[in-house]
Amino acid sequence: MPYVITAPCIGTKDTACVDVCPVDCIHPRKDEPEFASSQMLFIHPGECIDCGACLPACPVDAIYEAPDACPADQRLLVEANAVYRSGDAEAVAQADALVAEHIAAHPGLVKGGV
Ligand code: SF4
Ligand code: SF4
Repeated sequence: MPYVITAPCIGTKDTACVDVCPVDCIHPRKDEPEFASSQMLFIHPGECIDCGACLPACPVDAIYEAPDACPADQRLLVEANAVYRSGDAEAVAQADALVAEHIAAHPGLVKGGV
C-alpha cells in the first residue's frame, strides 16, 4: 500500500519529503512546471516502495502510511494522490479539481489545517 499525502501539505508544500524519497515518486518537484500552481504534493501509488522515509520528514504530519490509514475526511485527497501523474495535463487537472473540492468542503482550511 502506498504512502499518501493529505491536507496539511496544502499551504506548506516545502518539498522536504521529495528530498528524502529514494525513488522520486513525490510530485510535483520544484523543477517541474506544475509546482507553482499545485496546492500540494502527491505520491505516485505505483512507484512508492513503502520505505517510510518521507513520513518523519514532513513538518506538518501530512503523510500517512496507506490510504486506509488516512482520516475519512481526507478521501478526496487520497483519490488525488491516486490520479496525479506528473506531466499528464489531464491527470494533473483531475487531481487539482479534487484538491479544490476538498478545500471547498473545508472552508476553515488554513496552513497546516484539515
Ligand atoms: S514511503 Fe518511501 S518511496 Fe514512498 S513516497 Fe515515502 S519516501 Fe517515497
Ligand atoms: S514534507 Fe509534508 S508538507 Fe512538505 S511537501 Fe512533503 S507532504 Fe507536503
